Amino acid sequence: MSGNLLLKDIPSVDKLLGSEELEPVVDAHGHTRVRETIRELLDQIRSDLLDGNSSEVPSIQALSDEVSERITRKNHGTLTQVINLTGTVLHTNLGRAVLPGNALDAIATVAGANSNLEFDLASGKRGDRDTHIEALLAELTGAEAVTVVNNNAAAVLLSLNTLAAGKEVCISRGELVEIGGSFRIPEVMEKSNCRLREVGATNRTHLKDYRNAITDQTGLLLKVHTSNYEIRGFTQEVSYREVSELAGETGLPFMADLGSGTLVDLEQYGLEHEPTVQEVLAAGADIVTFSGDKLLGGPQAGIIAGKKVYVDAIKKNPLKRALRVDKMTITALTEVLKLYLEPETLAERLPTLRHLSRPAGDIETIARQVEPHLTKFFKDVASIDVVDTHSQIGSGALPLDQIPSFAIAITPVANSDAALQAISKAFRELPIPVIGRLSDGQMMLDCRTLDDPGEFIRQLEQLQQDHLALHPDH
Ligand SMILES: *Cc1c(COP(=O)(O)O)cnc(C)c1O
Repeated sequence: MSGNLLLKDIPSVDKLLGSEELEPVVDAHGHTRVRETIRELLDQIRSDLLDGNSSEVPSIQALSDEVSERITRKNHGTLTQVINLTGTVLHTNLGRAVLPGNALDAIATVAGANSNLEFDLASGKRGDRDTHIEALLAELTGAEAVTVVNNNAAAVLLSLNTLAAGKEVCISRGELVEIGGSFRIPEVMEKSNCRLREVGATNRTHLKDYRNAITDQTGLLLKVHTSNYEIRGFTQEVSYREVSELAGETGLPFMADLGSGTLVDLEQYGLEHEPTVQEVLAAGADIVTFSGDKLLGGPQAGIIAGKKVYVDAIKKNPLKRALRVDKMTITALTEVLKLYLEPETLAERLPTLRHLSRPAGDIETIARQVEPHLTKFFKDVASIDVVDTHSQIGSGALPLDQIPSFAIAITPVANSDAALQAISKAFRELPIPVIGRLSDGQMMLDCRTLDDPGEFIRQLEQLQQDHLALHPDH
């Protein structure tokens, strides 16, 4: 029968809505939503019939099931938890730092009720949202004043715009970095209404280069941490202290964008030294900017710390209002900072540091615990081996520092890219998707960041192999 003739067999929206089959769905989601979903579905069936893509009208039962499934699918949302086994601890695409439990509890409390976000409980008057973190951050960094914005890109933009709008900003050629494709110092400079004044050569910059660049047009001296690359060989960089002395001599402010920024000496955790916020402030930087969700291990935020006169000016910039953080960020950041007050337990309680400082031996134990389950699961499809590998910090921190780790290497028997892609896809389709790293024809699951091997194994057991289409004979 032609599609046109079948159209009359399509039930009406009201008939379907009133059907017994859809009663529980209407009870759960209400008339409005179910009617809208029915309408979409019937429209699709109508056009499929007319286009010849279908030659029958589904039963009421089949239509009801489809309505229910569509609502469930939509409710599922797209942002979801994943297990990051890429070996990159702070993976920007996978949400960077994992928050500690005390921060999660505090978010639930503060977000589920009213709070004194901008209310001074002592005086009963209007307060300032920055006060909640300012004292803690000042104590931890030694800064006179602190403010927080949405991310470090915003911190740099706002600081440049406040301190040097309409003026020139001197920066070494070797520090004109691009971070993640969308944050490039020259472009941020332009959007801040500042003029870039490049100083020195790519590999070598001397103090006299800064000195010679300073004119009555200069508004700021800037150093940017070259987060995601390193210049090696015949190089010369001017230290924070030297630039700060020059700034003092000339009466100009000096700002340092640390990017990742850390509050602790990473050497104690077996990592390479990274200049800490405290060191750079002590070396004389007037303003330091850094991220909340990189090495600090907190929520997405940009922290601006330094001299009170500059921080006060930054807070008064109308852009600050547009870039400010919400109460959930403030409370999460506060809880993370509190952990830094108790350094003995920091690496245990803060997931980012716990992952970064995990001994390779412990990681190997986890890999060996998971290995037999994967071997069983992939029996004819892939071989499973525990191998040593290197993790990296990620998010531009210490890009060349590779931390010894252990991974499970999954090598498809079919030795083809298609087989590898199928395995990788199967992991992404798990109830909690698992993201690994593909390299040299293998899928690597770096166990440094595997917190709950039991959960990982249970997921595998739930799976039906044929559902994954991994076995060529299925
Ligand atoms: C990561 C980074 C930024 C941007 O920080 P976000 O918190 O991602 O906005 C800026 N500058 C440097 C040097 C960085 O490494």
